[in-house]
Amino acid sequence: MKNDFLCPNCRGYLSVGDRIVFTIKKKGWSGGILLLSPLLGDYSYENHSSYKIDPGEKFEFHCPICDFDFSVKGTDNLARIIMMDEAKKEFTVVFSKREGERCTYKISDIKIEEEYGEHAPRNLDLLSTSFFK
Ligand SMILES: [Zn+2]
Repeated sequence: MKNDFLCPNCRGYLSVGDRIVFTIKKKGWSGGILLLSPLLGDYSYENHSSYKIDPGEKFEFHCPICDFDFSVKGTDNLARIIMMDEAKKEFTVVFSKREGERCTYKISDIKIEEEYGEHAPRNLDLLSTSFFK
């Protein structure tokens, strides 16, 4: 199954080859490119060797096309993008901005459809209030 990932702002495609491409930023650093796996629950990532990602370090995730900030409103810890499946059905995918925090959620208009990662229980309350009112 091949899913596409899109920016919620410009709807540009973030998935290239077998990776999802992000710009990551933090205070005092101009930013870099981070590649994530398109498989939900796979927490492997790649970045250029010129910058180091420390365990537990948190970054802001931005669209590499329009620079939109993917932060989920109401929390400092989560980012969101659009996932489009083969049937062109769209979901929101939410994930942690913190290295080593393993939680990913696939969310439809009405509920959290799937959750991944051992830290997934941490944000369930927050997500239910930010996505379903
Ligand atoms: Zn964008």
